[in-house]
Amino acid sequence: MNAPGATGRVVECYGRQVVVVPDDRPERRTCKLRGRRLGVVAGDGVRIEQAHGDEWLVVERLPRRNVLMRSDSRGVEESIAANLDQLGVVVAGRPACDPFIVDRYFAGAAYAGIAPLLIVNKSDLGLPEADLDFVGVLERLDIPVLRVSARERSGLDALIERLRGKRTLLAGQSGVGKSSLTNALMGRERQSTGDLSASTGEGRHTTVSSSILALPWGELADSPGVRDYAPPIVPLPAVQQGFVEIAARAAGCRFQDCLHLREPQCAVASAVAAGEVDARRYESYRRLVNLTRQLDERRGWRG
Ligand code: GDP
Ligand code: ZN
Repeated sequence: MNAPGATGRVVECYGRQVVVVPDDRPERRTCKLRGRRLGVVAGDGVRIEQAHGDEWLVVERLPRRNVLMRSDSRGVEESIAANLDQLGVVVAGRPACDPFIVDRYFAGAAYAGIAPLLIVNKSDLGLPEADLDFVGVLERLDIPVLRVSARERSGLDALIERLRGKRTLLAGQSGVGKSSLTNALMGRERQSTGDLSASTGEGRHTTVSSSILALPWGELADSPGVRDYAPPIVPLPAVQQGFVEIAARAAGCRFQDCLHLREPQCAVASAVAAGEVDARRYESYRRLVNLTRQLDERRGWRG
């Protein structure tokens, strides 16, 4: 009647082509982005307008509550998904878990103000406790931990309670059982983005860069961009924001701009020596400071 177009949310993103579910109707619309400066990811709220005939355009991105970002190995940053309630990192005893990757995921989530959740899958295999000691460390930092088995479908009810009413991005190394878990969670409500693409012929030959699956109890977001994850480049003094137990002690350091590396009278180094801050987490922090510095340099070289 009045203003043309409508608002909606992006549920699939294939670069410059996206699938939007308008707020006032349940159908999906394939849209192109208007203008090169407009960038959207799954989870974004957008305004769409009809162009010519059947063609729809995304003309505006609505303000974001948050956006999870990543950096690639050259220091190029990209957005992964927007307006997330939590980042669920999936780990398993097999393939061997790399706790440093897990810390990087949670650091990236913390930078964006997104709540963390750790999902320990394959509990049917009997987890090698030595490898998963770090889970206890994260649990003591108040990160919620859920133990599940996608294969035996155990622990799923508790997991669904954690996911209820929320939009959760599932991340994890390849082989930890992310797809198996998503399938188990979908149960009989099978309406995967793959099915949809096949039925409409849209986006079949292009790579999905992010997507959202709406389930009766909540939304699961997915993106290949989270498989080998490095957080975005922040100023070095901000890296500690990704490590709550380190940031909490920084006020006790002699220097206000202490990076907790080799500075004298560093409260963080003392806490590590006293066993109050886990040494592996501290090492993870140091690695992320170094990685951030390297990525920033690479980015600088490119100009
Ligand atoms: P993704 O790469 O994270 O998506 O992992 P997949 O879902 O493809 O699973 C990788 C392998 O782990 C497959 O062989 C699955 O059958 C297996 N797997 C997934 N979940 C479980 C589980 O809970 N227990 C066991 N034992 N194996 C699992
Ligand atoms: Zn310090």
